Amino acid sequence: MEAGRQSYEMGDLDLLPLVQEVVETFAVSSPKHELNVEVRALSTRVRGDADKLKQVLMNLIGNAVKYSPEGGVVTVALRTEPKALVVDITDQGLGIPKDALSKLFSKFYRIDNSDRRKIGGTGLGLAICKEIVKAHEGEIKVQSELGVGSTFSMYLPREAAEEAAPAKLEAAASSQQPRLFIVE
Ligand code: ATP
Ligand code: MG
Repeated sequence: MEAGRQSYEMGDLDLLPLVQEVVETFAVSSPKHELNVEVRALSTRVRGDADKLKQVLMNLIGNAVKYSPEGGVVTVALRTEPKALVVDITDQGLGIPKDALSKLFSKFYRIDNSDRRKIGGTGLGLAICKEIVKAHEGEIKVQSELGVGSTFSMYLPREAAEEAAPAKLEAAASSQQPRLFIVE
């Protein structure tokens, strides 16, 4: 994965087609995983650099697949918070030990457990993701339980013009029928 130091080409873009493209790439390369996309967001538009955000999605969705067993479900869900479009990437994989959480985004850091020693990587992916998301004035949060799975959440600022009433946000979040894109 190349470092994200070049200049950014920021524009108004729809994140959903990017998510679908990346999910489809992994559905082809990892046919034994089940990949789902759920859309609960009011809008999936953000201001950003499409190539850079695709790089973030490639690593986060790639990690979810790489660090979870065949047959595992990986869900990419888009939702709206008052100030952010949030992309939650959830897996049913190895999980992350508590003491590793604070080091995860450091360059070249990899968890050295026997359960993942055979899984290849450079340990740069999350450091690059953090840098790219920071350049978008967003952030990445992680929730994880060892042996159960992880959720990486990417927060991207929403357009100011899109401010929505709290009731509308709640209705979108609790929607019983999210738009589902199931990749076979
Ligand atoms: P690279 O992305 O550079 O090819 P990498 O995947 O090892 O290599 P990162 O993406 O930075 O590097 O991830 C750092 C470490 O965090 C990984 O080595 C892995 O142990 C752990 N990790 C990342 N994502 C997950 C996940 N979804 N589930 C479990 N562990 C994870
Ligand atoms: Mg990685």
